[in-house]
Amino acid sequence: MRITDVEAIPLYLGTEKAIADGTQDALIIKVYTDENIIGIGEADTSPHVGKAIIDAPVSGDKCQGIRNIIVGEDPFDVEVIWEKMYYKTYKFGRKGAAINVMSGIDIALWDIIGKKLNQPIYKLLGGAFRKEVVPYASVLFPQDPGDINDVKEKANKCINAGFRSIKFGWGGFGDLEEKDYALIEAIRDEAGNDEVRLMIDVGMKWDAKTAIQRAGILKEFRPYWFEEPVIADDLHGYSEISAAVNWSNIVGGEQEYTRYGFKDLMDIGRVDMIQPDLARAGGFTECRKVAAMAHTRNIPCIPHGWSTDILVKANLHFIAATRNAYFLEYCMMDSPLRWEVTINPSQLEDGVVKVPEEPGLGVHLNEETLRKYSG
Ligand SMILES: [Mg+2]
Repeated sequence: MRITDVEAIPLYLGTEKAIADGTQDALIIKVYTDENIIGIGEADTSPHVGKAIIDAPVSGDKCQGIRNIIVGEDPFDVEVIWEKMYYKTYKFGRKGAAINVMSGIDIALWDIIGKKLNQPIYKLLGGAFRKEVVPYASVLFPQDPGDINDVKEKANKCINAGFRSIKFGWGGFGDLEEKDYALIEAIRDEAGNDEVRLMIDVGMKWDAKTAIQRAGILKEFRPYWFEEPVIADDLHGYSEISAAVNWSNIVGGEQEYTRYGFKDLMDIGRVDMIQPDLARAGGFTECRKVAAMAHTRNIPCIPHGWSTDILVKANLHFIAATRNAYFLEYCMMDSPLRWEVTINPSQLEDGVVKVPEEPGLGVHLNEETLRKYSG
């Protein structure tokens, strides 16, 4: 089998705002083959930047567009193709958008292999440690940190939907100590004292010193983790926080890339858990290596995911087949790009989300949605 073409389909809601909501856009990737099997993938990046990385011409050995690199290759050669893409985009790649796009291609290649062999991806990865995954509800703090009703409503909505773990992140959290306290107090109040696990995503708002102080003030509400307390580049900051806040988990990695980046995040940053995003950090091929590295350090690998159902399904296969993975991030935004890109979105049922059993990813694209939001 040979790859014949790659298509990048940028999607935009048309109502985008400069807030931390990744369901406002998407970049869907289709990889075509000479056997009429089409692989579906997704790259979580700026859609037009991603499309340019696919379409770019050759202008040097380490400066090539992805289409040029992969057309003619056998889609079963995922390792070879991954390394080829990595080195031939090295001038503009290594971290960021080029790796995001490679991730989307890699997901699509595994989809092709699964469809050809009539097996779900988790089987190709070595089988399922679990066929059902417990999700955590993932929601945003309000932009106005004084909007206590907003967090109460969201906490109630998640609990009523059947979630027992909720993560709040970004928005107006992190700026003012007394507002942070009031927000988390209100959430803990609504969630009850013991049965619901709370996670706080700081959205890179703090430096290490602030993180240590602020975490101390919030300790009484028993946050299960603090996510991205500092910018992804501040590995020594991560390490200081991790040592000082030893009563909770310090986690991060959604803005980290490849085995090289995660090695430093674990060994210098000393995080308690890592959160690679399959549509950003390198796809299945790279993230399974990242997870294996985490396994040798006894670190859980909890994939990040805040985009379409394509990424949700990729995460379900990955969590199923990875011993040290658990916990599906379940984005609660009601964006059509979250729920309508596929006709069979994975849903919470009886407290769990089932791992897809169809060949490949198990994704059925809604072409109507792609046409409607294509931009
Ligand atoms: Mg996050």
